[in-house]
Amino acid sequence: MEHVESMSSTITPVRLGQLIGGRELPADREIEVRNPSRRGELVGAVADGTAADVDAAVDAAVAAAHAWAATSPQHRIELFARIADEIDAQADDLATLVARENGSVRPIVRRELIGTGAAFRDVAAYLVEKLSPVEHPSGPAGEFVRVHRRPFGVVACVVPWNAPLILTANKLAPALAAGNAVVLKPSPFAPLGVTLIARIAASILPPGVVNVVNGGGEVGAALIGHREVRKISFTGGGETARHIMRQAADTLTGVHFELGGNDPAIVLDDADLEATADRIVESAFRRAGQVCFAVKRIYVPRSQADEFARLLVKRAERITVGDALDERATMGPLNNAGQLEKVQGLRERTTALGRDVREVGTALDPDAWNDGYYLMPALVLDAQHDDEIVREEQFGPILPIVAYDTEDAAIAMANDTEYGLCSSVWSRSVDRALDVASRIEAGMTIVNNHLFTPVGSREIPFGGWKQSGIGWEASPYGIDEYLQFQSVDVQSFPERDAS
Ligand code: NAD
Repeated sequence: MEHVESMSSTITPVRLGQLIGGRELPADREIEVRNPSRRGELVGAVADGTAADVDAAVDAAVAAAHAWAATSPQHRIELFARIADEIDAQADDLATLVARENGSVRPIVRRELIGTGAAFRDVAAYLVEKLSPVEHPSGPAGEFVRVHRRPFGVVACVVPWNAPLILTANKLAPALAAGNAVVLKPSPFAPLGVTLIARIAASILPPGVVNVVNGGGEVGAALIGHREVRKISFTGGGETARHIMRQAADTLTGVHFELGGNDPAIVLDDADLEATADRIVESAFRRAGQVCFAVKRIYVPRSQADEFARLLVKRAERITVGDALDERATMGPLNNAGQLEKVQGLRERTTALGRDVREVGTALDPDAWNDGYYLMPALVLDAQHDDEIVREEQFGPILPIVAYDTEDAAIAMANDTEYGLCSSVWSRSVDRALDVASRIEAGMTIVNNHLFTPVGSREIPFGGWKQSGIGWEASPYGIDEYLQFQSVDVQSFPERDAS
């Protein structure tokens, strides 16, 4: 363990209160955050919120919202550049902290931080144009209709733990840029980095524009149900989304959802199998498979299935599993006990079915593993489309391979799901790949890659069809979720005869 000892053992636990109205308030109760790589290590603690904290945070946001909405887009862009600079300045420390609370290996978290800063900078490309009213002449001279884009007021943002910083920035940046005030609820499984990112934003923005209430699902529910919340933006699981949608019905509040996926990779018979295997392994086991748009199932021509499985195993054998701060590790542990139990259960039931579950990779210092949520990666070489491991979102390091007989059958299987987040098609022929892509039911399709894509960056929207989401994130389209129209029709009085 000498590879990690020096990096983490001397770090003092971080303790964070609620962030309400520009002040950090200590809590009566705390939620402890332990390192999933080594459970004995306390990374820090956040306040465990109450409904009263939610009320106070929403009150602070209401108080700040009007003045914030009146600021110019140019002013917001300037403040956002400062937020991005500060995130960049703190990125090294934040990467270490988040690797310790979330379990993703540090280089991946470090890259996540680049995207986190960029999310605040990128709005500069479109904000002024987006918020410029459009005027339509209407009737006699001097009459017109001016169509404005206005913020909602207070937006509730609820985020998960798996890529916590970028998923938070993808909400905070557009919601705030649009002129809303935000109350943010991080996941108790990775709240520290998210709270610190929000604290950076809050230190630069007027008090009350960004507020954080930490806590579990009940705190999230209290926030979602608050009558002054005018828009809900949620990233997380489908079950939680269903709760939120039911609750939002009471106040008829609009929802924006980024949810789970069961992304298919369809390998066509003219694909470069070696390159495909390389990129699919990269796209399936990153963050131990805990990525909403990771490759979750592979469809490969039956005649090539054995050869492709061999290439996948060969490539996946290079994965090294260890502490998230161990520089030799390419994969860390799972994030929490529930995740580990869920993925282990799926794996055991798949093995019990008689499937060829092939464990791959190298364990680094496994003697220390009793203390962490580690699971070795595995491939299911002979999965069938109806297997639980194919039908469920595994959100973990186990990847099923399904053989297909015809392209039509592969597309039908890919679409035979309630999910529709991302997907990929692998082929040397752009025309063939585009034809298949046009028949896939998903918000995003990548040709010859999956996870490594400009989708979800400054220009290109990110989101899912069917039960994978409602609405779009990132890009100039993402900000639309946080804006509503106000059409102002200006008419003049009739001319009066002065006599
Ligand atoms: P989760 O749904 O359990 O929790 C997400 C957040 O919701 C947490 O902050 C949690 O405390 C809060 N919450 C729980 N119950 C609530 C309630 N009743 N009301 C309001 N808030 C509540 O999800 P998770 O386990 O943190 O994340 C994993 C899931 O998220 C996976 O399904 C994954 O695919 C999905 N995800 C989707 C995307 C995307 O962009 N599409 C990105 C990352 C993760």
